[in-house]
Formats: sequence, structure tokens, C-alpha cells
Amino acid sequence: MKRLTNCRVRRVPKFPGPAAWNAILPWQAPPRQLEENITADFAVIGAGFAGLSAARRLSQLNPGARTAVLEAARIAEGPAGRNSGFMIDLPHDLSSDNYSGNGKDDRRQIRLNRTGIDFARGAAEEYRMDRETFDPCGKINAAASEAGHRQNVAFGQHLTKLGEPSELLDADAMKALTGTGFYHSGLHTPHAVIIQPAAYIRALADGLSPVIQLYENSPVTSLQRTANTWMLKTPHGSIETPKVILAVNGHAESFGFFKRRLMHVFTYASMTDVLTQRQITALGGEPRWAVTPADPMGVTVRRINGTGGDRIIVRSRFSYNPSMQASDAYLKNIAGVHRKKFLDRFPMLSDVGMEFCWGGHLCLSWNNVPAFGEIDEGIYAACCQNGLGTAKGTLSGLAAAELCSGVSSETVTALQNEAQPSRLPPEPFAWLGANASLRWKEWRAGRE
Ligand SMILES: Cc1cc2nc3c(=O)[nH]c(=O)nc-3n(C[C@H](O)[C@H](O)[C@H](O)COP(=O)(O)OP(=O)(O)OC[C@H]3O[C@@H](n4cnc5c(N)ncnc54)[C@H](O)[C@@H]3O)c2cc1C
Repeated sequence: MKRLTNCRVRRVPKFPGPAAWNAILPWQAPPRQLEENITADFAVIGAGFAGLSAARRLSQLNPGARTAVLEAARIAEGPAGRNSGFMIDLPHDLSSDNYSGNGKDDRRQIRLNRTGIDFARGAAEEYRMDRETFDPCGKINAAASEAGHRQNVAFGQHLTKLGEPSELLDADAMKALTGTGFYHSGLHTPHAVIIQPAAYIRALADGLSPVIQLYENSPVTSLQRTANTWMLKTPHGSIETPKVILAVNGHAESFGFFKRRLMHVFTYASMTDVLTQRQITALGGEPRWAVTPADPMGVTVRRINGTGGDRIIVRSRFSYNPSMQASDAYLKNIAGVHRKKFLDRFPMLSDVGMEFCWGGHLCLSWNNVPAFGEIDEGIYAACCQNGLGTAKGTLSGLAAAELCSGVSSETVTALQNEAQPSRLPPEPFAWLGANASLRWKEWRAGRE
């Protein structure tokens, strides 16, 4: 275990572009910042899936304990409110050809992802989230080419071998759903959940508000060990606590942990203006659907309606950014790529503009494992979600809460038995290798 007596946090998050999912929601109550020096039984750093799930599990296991959550930004402005909202139960290895990874470990991955999703479902029920926020409708892998269709068929066969249900939809069924003739087929798997990410994160934070202290716009800038406690400093206050859950995903490295073991990747999305009735009619299809690409490097598309209006969201492109920042110039370039991907799929909507374009930080490890466990005395990591933070972040947050409450569980054991994230090659080799590999895989994904 690493011994870290003092650390000055090297970087706080900077998010490229607006948090569109949050911007289309109704008014958000003003933030409460940490502006005093307090003590707590537990402090959680980061209010994404991992941090808020950790706080919820702590409140279940330690009723009456004082739990403080510190978030650098506003709730739902960070990656947890910027993603595409696919809470996926099945294996989801972004570096694979069809998500299924090496196949050896798939049943265990499914069990763990479902534990995370069930925990989220418990929160959705308790806090009365509606279908727009948390929809257990399953998900569809959409194929836009013969190659994609073959990937869908292969993935479906792989799932059958695992005893997992799936249904292959033909081109007509995909057109009836999406309104576009772009897709050759779709593979529906029933156990995924589709969330409005910002609405889910806000509802989770609101639901927890009676039992935790949540401080927004309160980045932790240093961690110092005192006799038996940790002192967390923010620009205007501090918290002294014996137990800290670090739920900052890739920013664990900014705190000095997992150095050169975390890969900082950004992915990007755009959201249209609100569709008019004429545009909705021209499009056809169902008012709400969500498809991931048959090739993991392809384009994710969602159509939403209800709060925030009828809109379409496309997500595509990845970049490797060891600096943990993506430039505005790159985002501008991405906006053009998204526009083209949108028009390829929806030529009947050529007069629809894009209101938002944004990016967000993913954290991957070379060996596709989480950064989990007690990493210093009293500091517990729930980080590195390998691109599936909705399910895996929830899982690692609840497991970190169990571990630091002294509760043994199958989930804690499973995460503790994972290997540590392996060391990355030195720069510039990691940068060159990662970018070359991303560009090659995106090129190979072609029409997908
Ligand atoms: C466009 C896009 C699409 C995606 N689509 C999907 C998807 O469909 N499904 C899926 O599962 N995943 C998806 N992801 C990935 C997903 O968003 C992340 O894996 C997930 O948010 C990670 O959850 P987390 O709680 O571990 O970390 P985060 O959500 O990153 O939360 C960590 C929080 O820590 C805070 N923080 C960092 N440093 C400090 C500090 N010093 N002090 C205080 N707070 C700090 C940050 O502000 C942040 O809010 C997508 C990501 C993007 C960008």
C-alpha cells in the first residue's frame, strides 16, 4: 500500500463544451460550497456515479454517520452528466471487435455489472425516477454495414453460448424504430437500462440530500495526513475525516495515485436543436430510442423526447489526452464530424442544427481492470471505470463503501481480486500507440 503523507492535487477537472443533458433540464438549485472547517465520519471526493453510489451505500450501512461529498464542479456537469446513458450489463470491452473481450471472463463481468445496475435500480425506485430518467428497456447494437451485421450475429451467438437472451432485428424493424433506412440490423439485449444521465445524477444527489452533506464547486486541492485522520482542503474550507473514498475516476492520478497506469481518453457528443413537428413527421419512427454501434469504435445515437423537447444525440470519436484536457479547436473539428455522421443517418433532417457539442473524460486501464481498493491507510479508490462508468462506477462506489465500512461481500472480494492497472509504456510511445490504434479502429469501423 502506498504511503502518501501529503499531496497537493495537481489538476482539477476542466470540461470541454457545455453539459447538454444538464442544460436541457429545468432549473437547478444554487450550489452549496464548502466554506467552513468541519469534521466528518466519511468524506467522498467526486459526485459522479461512483461517488454518489458510495455515499448511498455508506448511508445504508452507517445510519447516522456524517458523510460529506465534495464535488469540484456542479452536480451533473462532469462526465457523469455528459455520457450517452447506456447502463450496460453485458461485457463492454471498447478495445474488442464486438464488446465481448476475450470471452473468458464474461459471466463474471455480467454478474458484476448487474450488481451495479440493480443498485442503481434501487435508487431509481426509492427516489421515484420516471422513465425519461431511468428506463429498463434494454439496448440495441445497430449495424450500418454488412461487417457490422456480421459483428451483431457473432455477438448474438456468443451471448447464446453464455445463456444470455438477444433478438436480431432486421432492417425494416430498425427503420420502424429509428425512422432511417441507415441500419442493416440491430441486436436487442433486454437487461440494459437507458438513463438521462444528468437527470439520474441530479435525482440521486437530491434523494441523498437528507442524509449527506453535498458540497459543489468545492474541488479538493490537497490531502494531508494528521495523526489518525486526513485533512482535505478546498479553496474555502476543509474536512477532517478518518476515511476518504476517492471517486474521481482518472483524476486519481492528479492526487498522485496510479501514476502512469491510467489512460485518459476523451469521447465527444452533439445534440440537435429541438425538432419541430414538421421535422418529427419527416423523420418518423419511435419518439425515444437508443442504439450503440455494432463496432465499439462506431457512432452511438439516441432520440429523446419529453423534458427538453424532441432531439437527437450522436456520440463518436475518441482521443487520447494524457493532459486530461481536450482543446476547443479539437472540439470544433469534432462538431463537423458529428454533423456529417448525423446527415449520413438522417438526410431528411438536413435543416436541423446542432445546439450543443461537448466532450468528456473516460479513464481506461491497459489491462481493462478498475483502480479499486484501500490505496493508503483510510483512503479507498473507486476509480477507472473503463468506459462503462454508469454500471461499473456504481459498482465500484458501492463496493468502496462496503470495504471502508468493514463489510465483506462478494462484490468487494471480486474487485479486490482484480489485477492492478498495469504500467503504460513511456511517452511519447503511449501517446503515439494509443492515437494510432484509435484512428485505425475508427477507420476500420467505417460506416458504423
Ligand atoms: C460523451 C460520453 C459518452 C459516454 N457514454 C457512456 C455510456 O453510454 N455508458 C457508460 O457507462 N459510460 C459512458 N461514458 C463514460 C462515463 O461517463 C464515465 O465512465 C463515468 O462518468 C465515470 O463515472 P465516475 O463516477 O467514476 O467518474 P466521473 O463521472 O468522472 O465523476 C468524477 C467526479 O469527480 C470530480 N472531481 C475530480 N477531481 C476532483 C477534485 N479534486 N475535487 C472534487 N471533485 C473532483 C469530477 O468533477 C467528477 O464530477 C461516456 C462518457 C462520455 C464523455
